[in-house]
Amino acid sequence: MALGEFDLIARYFARATPQAVLGPGDDCALVQPAAGMDLALTTDLLVEGTHFLPGTDPHDLGWKTLAVNLSDLAAMGARPRWALLALCLPAAEEAWLAAFAGGFHACAREFGVDLIGGDTTRGPLNLCVTAIGEVPAGQALRRSGAKAGDDIWISGQPGLAALGLTHLQGGLELPPRWQARCIERLQAPRPRVRLGQALRPLAHAAIDISDGLLADLGHIARASKLQAQVILDQLPLLPEGVDRVAAMDALLSGGDDYELCFTAPSRQRLALGCIAADLDLPLWRIGRMVAAKPLGDVLLMDADGRVIPHERQGYEHFVN
Ligand code: ADP
Ligand code: MG
Repeated sequence: MALGEFDLIARYFARATPQAVLGPGDDCALVQPAAGMDLALTTDLLVEGTHFLPGTDPHDLGWKTLAVNLSDLAAMGARPRWALLALCLPAAEEAWLAAFAGGFHACAREFGVDLIGGDTTRGPLNLCVTAIGEVPAGQALRRSGAKAGDDIWISGQPGLAALGLTHLQGGLELPPRWQARCIERLQAPRPRVRLGQALRPLAHAAIDISDGLLADLGHIARASKLQAQVILDQLPLLPEGVDRVAAMDALLSGGDDYELCFTAPSRQRLALGCIAADLDLPLWRIGRMVAAKPLGDVLLMDADGRVIPHERQGYEHFVN
């Protein structure tokens, strides 16, 4: 007999929710934020064919569906606590559901999130998570907080996910030692949750890189009414043996990495070095925020301050 909606929820999604007053099963879930905390809320929709390739491994997809939301919480410096999952499924296929739920719950466990509710319906494959986190009142990292003179930083190695996607689509042959890493970045990104919280007292502004470094840094520049100057020489080393043009394009404009881009005053360089060591995560100081016109722009420069033209900025739905 086909699995009904409520059996499906009970079997694959309802789990213990120690952080909630009331978990799945009623018309609403109930949660109680800790005293003195702001709630940070975010939602992200993943559509087959737009955000992931048809036939994507369901375990990875379950992980990524939650991970991309936790990345938004990380970018605000929030601690993830709760999530809601709205699922639109073509069929209740048990092997697929078991793997998807396995990936989702693995991510939830790793980052201390309770799945407190959702909605499940039949239709084209669509996955929508709402994630809720907490941040000490008034201390969330905003895009608008950058100050003139701030250093610009990025974590990890942005661009690998885009290289993985181009490889899977047959547009580029990656050397064997990069294949697994790039594909893993694409399909099972690690939200920088610990980094985001560690940055709260140090950084002025932050964003997660979901649409490409230049595009997302542009959001900080516009919101902060400053110009972002990225120094080419200070960018992370490109993956060895990969086509240089493709690798640079992926680094500057590739989406889906979920690394953090943030700004901080130069007096925090030492503290940021310690955080990088603590988290075993490289942090690259790639430029500075300046009060120069045109405001809101992201300029790419050589070491002598000459502007290098660049074309594609990042991914925008309805445009690309
Ligand atoms: P309603 O019709 O009142 O919106 P539903 O029948 O859709 O409630 O869902 C029943 C319960 O199961 C609700 O508490 C809802 O939050 C939960 N739920 C539905 N789908 C999911 C899911 N995919 N994961 C977790 N909980 C879910
Ligand atoms: Mg419902």
